[in-house]
Amino acid sequence: MTFSASVLTLYPDMFPGPLGHSLSGRALEKDLWRLEASQIRDFTTDKHRSVDDTPAGGGAGMVLRADILAKAIDAASPAGDPRPRLLMSPRGVPFTQARAHELAEGPGAVIICGRFEGVDQRVIDTRGLEEVSIGDYILSGGEIAAISLLDAVVRLIPGVMGNMESAETESFETGLLEHPHYTRPAEFEGLSIPQVLTSGNHRKIHEWRMAEAESLTRERRPDLWDAYMADEDDVD
Ligand code: SAH
Repeated sequence: MTFSASVLTLYPDMFPGPLGHSLSGRALEKDLWRLEASQIRDFTTDKHRSVDDTPAGGGAGMVLRADILAKAIDAASPAGDPRPRLLMSPRGVPFTQARAHELAEGPGAVIICGRFEGVDQRVIDTRGLEEVSIGDYILSGGEIAAISLLDAVVRLIPGVMGNMESAETESFETGLLEHPHYTRPAEFEGLSIPQVLTSGNHRKIHEWRMAEAESLTRERRPDLWDAYMADEDDVD
């Protein structure tokens, strides 16, 4: 089963965009995953091809129409399609590394990119859309959010990343932020590499990295640190 992403957007030319480069781009060429971007506007019926209208109840902005979007969704994802239908939305459940793993293990995703003020609630309700947010800030459209989500998912598909080991210690995988990295040159603007890293003592290196990861997490992300400590307590 190949992970298959269908993106519904008013800007299909934005895809694959960054996903056509580097790891995800090579994986796309090798058919390790598939991507199809459809134009929502193709499902309009009026001569102006309009997809949006003014909000019921008044107020600023425009709203994507339920009837047009529903037709686009039904064409990309007919009844029985096992893929989750995700609506990129700042009101959604925050996207996490855990969710990225879950999606990477599944058949793919149908991703709807909002624009304007958002989409008519009735299409969310009738088409079972799951609202997903990539963070507490407002983008002007769902495309960059969809690209971010897909990038996080695709690199977890088996065969996409050369060295899976490098993924295992990454931030959010262990519950801790990752330790700092160093490489050549040995001396940079008077700063040398911490001695333990060049000692060849693997146990000491592991301990140093662990201690750094813990202190970084404690300082920068008290939320993650509390969850990590609660987990450790459970183990005891
Ligand atoms: N009026 C809406 C924001 C609309 S922004 C509100 O206040 O909740 C326009 C579109 O950009 C949204 O429909 C969504 O698809 C996308 N978008 C904006 N910010 C996002 C975020 N943080 N995560 C995911 N999608 C986002």
